[in-house]
Amino acid sequence: MFQIQTIRNDFPALHQKVYGKPLIYFDNAATTHKPKPVINAVNEMNSLINGNIHRAFHYLGNVCTERYEEARETVRAFLNAPHTDEIIFTAGTTSAINMAAFSFGERYVGEGDEIIITEAEHHSNLVPWQLLCERKNAVLKVLSVDDDGRLQTEKLPQLFSKKTRLLCIAQASNVLGIINPIREIVATAHAHGVPVLVDGAQGVVHGGIDVQDADCDFYVFSGHKLYAPTGVGVLYGKRKWLEEMPPYQSGGDMIASVSLTHTTFNTLPLKFEAGTANFTGVYGLKKAIEYIQNVGLSAIHDYEQTLVRHAVQLMQTIQGLHIYGTAAPKTTVLSFNIDGVHPTDAAQMLDKMGIASRSGHLCAEPLMHRFHTQGMLRFSFAFYNTKEEITATVTALDKIKKMLI
Ligand code: PLP
Repeated sequence: MFQIQTIRNDFPALHQKVYGKPLIYFDNAATTHKPKPVINAVNEMNSLINGNIHRAFHYLGNVCTERYEEARETVRAFLNAPHTDEIIFTAGTTSAINMAAFSFGERYVGEGDEIIITEAEHHSNLVPWQLLCERKNAVLKVLSVDDDGRLQTEKLPQLFSKKTRLLCIAQASNVLGIINPIREIVATAHAHGVPVLVDGAQGVVHGGIDVQDADCDFYVFSGHKLYAPTGVGVLYGKRKWLEEMPPYQSGGDMIASVSLTHTTFNTLPLKFEAGTANFTGVYGLKKAIEYIQNVGLSAIHDYEQTLVRHAVQLMQTIQGLHIYGTAAPKTTVLSFNIDGVHPTDAAQMLDKMGIASRSGHLCAEPLMHRFHTQGMLRFSFAFYNTKEEITATVTALDKIKKMLI
């Protein structure tokens, strides 16, 4: 049984008031709140268990190193990656993609080569590839979406050429919520000899991934969207690529030996982890993964889908409200507009009622152009939200609409 009150009690942030109103937090696609086990783990690290990892031969350094490396194993198992050294800790999705774009790009992308992205990418999975293409004089090709927000995968085969070096695609859109058929897309790309990077920022928290089953070459995600602390994320990469790719940043920990004129590099995964890692955040990530595994990923999924169905049903009663991305399957993201209502006006009015939503271009300007709008309003639910919160919010939205039109 899914014990919503017990779950809510684990998240202190949910019990605060904003502007004197009880908080309703529907901006979970941007960042999620943290449960007590994560908060306690981070507090313990900050107040007691603090010693630099991989270098100190003293008790605290050893405990921190053990916790950091245990977390790597937790992440490996969570993604079902074959090898622990394929898990690189980063500062988040954006830094993982930049790492891949720089390092993969240095090694494998040259003049006239091609990278494929989609029209539905977050800027974080678009701009680093644009910059790489500018640096290398390479070409960025784009897979489009249809009016329902579905990727036009039937057009994918014609985008590949002998010059295609990589396909970069979100597991789920942060705007449309649509979950892409990653396994099929990866199979198509591999049939053309092209590796695939999957941006799991919105997917990891709604169903996760089995990277061996998906067979993707790279997978990235952020901790803070998975109930973990900010400033921690993951780049998974198949060994065969990571071993060939040059280091991204350089400094301590990523070296094997250094002289004044020459450096040799550490083996995986440390080759990609220059400087003091965010070992506190990484330990928090471990605790967050354990927490959601304890609640149960399929229980979370089923409960979240009841929230989405409830929200869609109520939102459809508001005249002039259009939800973008109607193709299934979807995460808990619902982006929409109401005829005659500016999304940011509505978001600001909701905010004053204690309701946190998101508005604007949602870090996906090309998708805004695709749907001929400058911005959208977005609700994104987590498994600590309730149907009562949704009912109250949609009622508030209806009132706002009547006030603004
Ligand atoms: N990719 C997607 C699909 C996202 O939704 C986001 C954040 O919203 C990112 C990348 C960037 O994540 P971060 O800001 O944690 O690096």
